[in-house]
Amino acid sequence: MTSTPSDAPDNKPLDFIRAIIEEDLQSGRYERVVTRFPPEPNGFLHIGHAKSICLNFGIAREYHSVCHLRFDDTNPSKESVEYVEAITEDVRWLGFDWGEHLYYASDYFDRLYDFAVQLIRMGKAYVCHLSADQIREQRGTLTEPGRESPYRDRPVEENLRLFEQMKNGELADGTCVLRARIDMASPNILMRDPVLYRILRTTHHRTADRWCIYPMYDFTHCLSDMIEGITHSLCTLEFENNRPLYDWVLDTLDTPCHPRQIEFARLNINYTVMSKRKLLRLVNENRVDGWDDPRMLTISGLRRRGYTPASIRRFCDLIGVGRRESWIDMGVLENAVREDLNESAPRVMGVLRPLKVVITNYPEGQTEQFEALNHPQKPEMGTRTVPFSREIFIEADDFMEDPPKKFHRLGPGREVRLRYAYLVTCDKVIKNDRGEVTELHCTHDPASRGGSAPDGRKVKGTIHWVSARHAVEAEVRLYDRLFTVDHPDMDREKDFKEFLNPDSLVVLSGCKLEPSLATARPEDRFQFERQGYFCPDTRDARPGRPVFNRIVTLRDTWKKISGQT
Ligand code: ATP
Ligand code: MG
Repeated sequence: MTSTPSDAPDNKPLDFIRAIIEEDLQSGRYERVVTRFPPEPNGFLHIGHAKSICLNFGIAREYHSVCHLRFDDTNPSKESVEYVEAITEDVRWLGFDWGEHLYYASDYFDRLYDFAVQLIRMGKAYVCHLSADQIREQRGTLTEPGRESPYRDRPVEENLRLFEQMKNGELADGTCVLRARIDMASPNILMRDPVLYRILRTTHHRTADRWCIYPMYDFTHCLSDMIEGITHSLCTLEFENNRPLYDWVLDTLDTPCHPRQIEFARLNINYTVMSKRKLLRLVNENRVDGWDDPRMLTISGLRRRGYTPASIRRFCDLIGVGRRESWIDMGVLENAVREDLNESAPRVMGVLRPLKVVITNYPEGQTEQFEALNHPQKPEMGTRTVPFSREIFIEADDFMEDPPKKFHRLGPGREVRLRYAYLVTCDKVIKNDRGEVTELHCTHDPASRGGSAPDGRKVKGTIHWVSARHAVEAEVRLYDRLFTVDHPDMDREKDFKEFLNPDSLVVLSGCKLEPSLATARPEDRFQFERQGYFCPDTRDARPGRPVFNRIVTLRDTWKKISGQT
């Protein structure tokens, strides 16, 4: 085996995890690298999970090895098949493949039971009849040791019999638990005889009612890693204190292999909440349109919003992995998709808040086709034609009745360039009874076909437009950040939902888009010139009923507001 990952991206220095892996391979501690991504199917994956996915699958890819997808399904009351399916779809969509290595902790229930029996036989586990409250009470504190359970010295035979009764459903929920027998005075509270099994009569989404006892996370996780031959078990920092227990279980059972747990800092992003529990509350209380609401930083929400898998991988690559807790600005994520789409998204014209313009000196019934570049910097992306006619729509805010000097767009008597078409001058402003501008009358310079002034006169402003007769009428949803403050869940007095951004979704109907957008497919993404990046909404768009989502604006409009750097 070579010592450097041959697919390591552009010679970047190794992060601390990859450096450890290198060392482990060189010292012969492990001969190969096997990683895993272990989601609990109790919610949808979010951008924080993407960090872990990119890390685990990325390392496997670099070492030409495998990363397992394992469902950590030991908590049946919160888990479901719906979540299992959503998670597999999301990991695949991100561009990763586990091959045949799809596993469930529940597949190991029999073996885990046998391991627990083995611990009992060794005098390393016992059945404890203290209640959950009593166990908590006797656990001690950081400064005080815990007290030993009166059941701690039960004879092995009695423990074996009771544990079997637990398994056979002879004891009611909550009657007793199986605990590891470690050290009630350990400075690490997790080592003070932690619970390994509890009685729980809940139907499991895979094992149905076969089991009425379920193993706890700390017991399950290390043994599942061991069973699968995982070498490096990468998890977030909050599991640092669990590592001694992870190692204790494997050492005590003297297992044939011993994966190495390494912790890294979790991803935190401002202007959002990240935990599944909070995301679930937003869903259940109908604050958002489901787990895949385009404002949620779930993988499915980002997908529906229009983020590309490449942009999410790029983001994860950019933030890197370390051991120090930090906050990533939401702008960094938005910029990752902006940069990706700036390269790849074809440009089109769409008018979001239309104002009608009649070109009075343009023949009625005439249509011209203008050639437009799909990407001004990328001729290889080709061209398309856009139709022009006597009546067009422009963006309402591209006109001002009394414009300041610096306003280079349209105003009474002013001339502006219609992108790819003609120079036009505004002659007349039509208003309704309430004094609102409803229509403009303009004249075009026929000699400026294509948009350049025949005499070389300077026309500073260029605006986009759509021919009224040919326009595709669409609903456009302008999405923005879901919260108005950078740390919505860190206020002591207020619930995070009090910081929801009332303007996080603005729905515009009657938008006028150029006709090429009539055939937009769900995976297509566009830059609406001067407006931002958009894509069809995969849930609500139908043939004949176009709905577009704004993925991201052209520029970071929050930077100024929040004073973030
Ligand atoms: P949450 O805290 O959002 O409820 P979780 O940690 O309970 O998430 P799991 O399904 O247990 O969710 O996580 C699967 C894997 O994803 C774990 O290895 C976990 O460490 C990792 N993970 C979860 N959240 C983040 C995050 N914000 N940054 C990096 N990795 C994460
Ligand atoms: Mg968890």
